[in-house]
Amino acid sequence: MAIQQNTDHIQTTHIGSLPRPHNLLDLLKAKYAGQPYDESKLNSVLAREVAECVRKQVECGIEIVTDGEYSKPGFFTYIRERFDGFESRPNQKLILFQQEVSAFPEYYAQYFKEAMMGRTIVAAGILVQVDDPFLPDIFVEPGLEDKQKKRKAEIYVEAINAALSGIPAERVRFHTCYGINEGPRIYESSLPEIIEYVLKINAGSFSFEAANPRHEHEYHLFERVKVPEAKVLCPGVITHASNIVEHPELIAERLIRFAKLVGRENVMAGADCGFSSQALYRTEVHATVVWEKFKALRRGADLASKQLWG
Ligand SMILES: [Zn+2]
Repeated sequence: MAIQQNTDHIQTTHIGSLPRPHNLLDLLKAKYAGQPYDESKLNSVLAREVAECVRKQVECGIEIVTDGEYSKPGFFTYIRERFDGFESRPNQKLILFQQEVSAFPEYYAQYFKEAMMGRTIVAAGILVQVDDPFLPDIFVEPGLEDKQKKRKAEIYVEAINAALSGIPAERVRFHTCYGINEGPRIYESSLPEIIEYVLKINAGSFSFEAANPRHEHEYHLFERVKVPEAKVLCPGVITHASNIVEHPELIAERLIRFAKLVGRENVMAGADCGFSSQALYRTEVHATVVWEKFKALRRGADLASKQLWG
């Protein structure tokens, strides 16, 4: 039995980021804006708030917890602090979800206005999560021919696997998503387009959006796609893109659909994406709602486990 597989019940987790407390955001904002800030205060507030958010996750019934990504301004913008060799390219503007933005300019003008700012792990018994919201983008990238899309996706897989070399696959979770929160989402690629690349990543589990109503039907894919032995699927069964708290019965139903296709030991209950992938003062889903979603996730996983293990 691989580390991430279930033994007698469906395990619960989420994707990582959680809404940061405002006292922490004030300090982070000063740090990343290059303003004077008290480093020791930042470190002590951070340690206290991370401990508190882990305690709350456990209280809600989340088994595989995260640090809420509290120390980071975003899910990849901290890279320059950790590695040499990266520098920003002035005048280079990253255009996110191009087709969506040009189809819904007023919606996205508002959306972007609300944004604020942008091996030892494994040894400690912790799982590594690779966040790759850019893989699905390849398949909707304007101007790319099918052959180019495939090649680009293969390069992504090769690069990720090279970065993961030496780390046991069962200690790795690969997360991919569509990178936006609430939005019309009519130009996203689909799981069938990306699944063959996702399953080539040397990970023990694969996390993707499945609660999102543009993608919920895609579980049928696993009627024909075989998931390799001992690999775990971590479909989102709660969404980060709506304040509606999913009913535990629906969560259980979603989990059972997957369990019937890939086996009860190979399904983990997760969320579609992080609840605050950027450090924002105002997140789309309010912090108080996130905890309720986690409680519903636990209840849903328990209902599903009861049916699946009896
Ligand atoms: Zn995500």
